[in-house]
Amino acid sequence: MAASATTIANMAQRQPAHLRALEHRHGATAARPLAQALRDTEADAAHRWLLATTPTRPVPGDQELRALIRHITVQLDAAFHGQGAHATREAQFAAYNAASYALAQASLLTTHLRGIAPPENVPVETGPVAGRAATGIPAAIEEEHQRALALLTTAGLTAGGMSGLRTVFSRARRAVSRITAGVAVAVTAAAANAALALARHLGPGMRMLWVAEPGACPACAAYAGRSIPVGGHFPGGVSLDSTRAVFLTSIPGPPRHPHCRCVLIPWHYRWATTGGTSLPVLLQQRARAGTAAGALASAGRTA
Ligand SMILES: [Zn+2]
Repeated sequence: MAASATTIANMAQRQPAHLRALEHRHGATAARPLAQALRDTEADAAHRWLLATTPTRPVPGDQELRALIRHITVQLDAAFHGQGAHATREAQFAAYNAASYALAQASLLTTHLRGIAPPENVPVETGPVAGRAATGIPAAIEEEHQRALALLTTAGLTAGGMSGLRTVFSRARRAVSRITAGVAVAVTAAAANAALALARHLGPGMRMLWVAEPGACPACAAYAGRSIPVGGHFPGGVSLDSTRAVFLTSIPGPPRHPHCRCVLIPWHYRWATTGGTSLPVLLQQRARAGTAAGALASAGRTA
């Protein structure tokens, strides 16, 4: 019983929408406490700034300004306190959920493709890339915290006034995007790793086939339909549009960039599909045409 290449491609291309949902849900949970604490801190700082200034004196006096800076520094330290550990835990949870989902999907696709279900004892492994993405979040947000503090100076606030204060907080808020980017990488990398773990259990000759996210960027679309041996690397430096960002490093699989939701599926050259066009060629054609986006978005909604 051979499955049709179209059916398999549709099933595989539904995975990115699910990964996106996981990424959004866990990213929001990971970043929410810091985002809220920064909003509160900024509102408090703006309020204190207004109380310390008048239309004719737009910057607080020297003593008052120094006291305000000390106050904001303490408040910012409190806002950032513990956020790295919280975000790491949430990213690890997100990675585990993504890996469980991807393992189930890869098993289902494998069953369709080779006609026999794969072993059921494959452990859910999130892998080293997802692990580093999760544990790297505290250092990333601490970097933004320190950069924000570096902008919180008497010189900066004297020159910039209230907008100088806003600059400090917009810098601090970059930590929120560092959290969501870390969670995003953890999700996509864990999903790819889980598919790889299954392929390792399927024996010799197995390959990993790149399935581009519907509507993928030109860099990701260039990988669609390409496959590598299990444990190999996809080459860097490929893109359908060399005038846009081209990523030079080789990678074991997605993500090609933060918020990439491309996926890998196990593949063997001997796995036959019906429909005339082979699965790798079909995936490549869809990515190149960019037409899969609409059709699969609706397929994802009805799934
Ligand atoms: Zn991608």
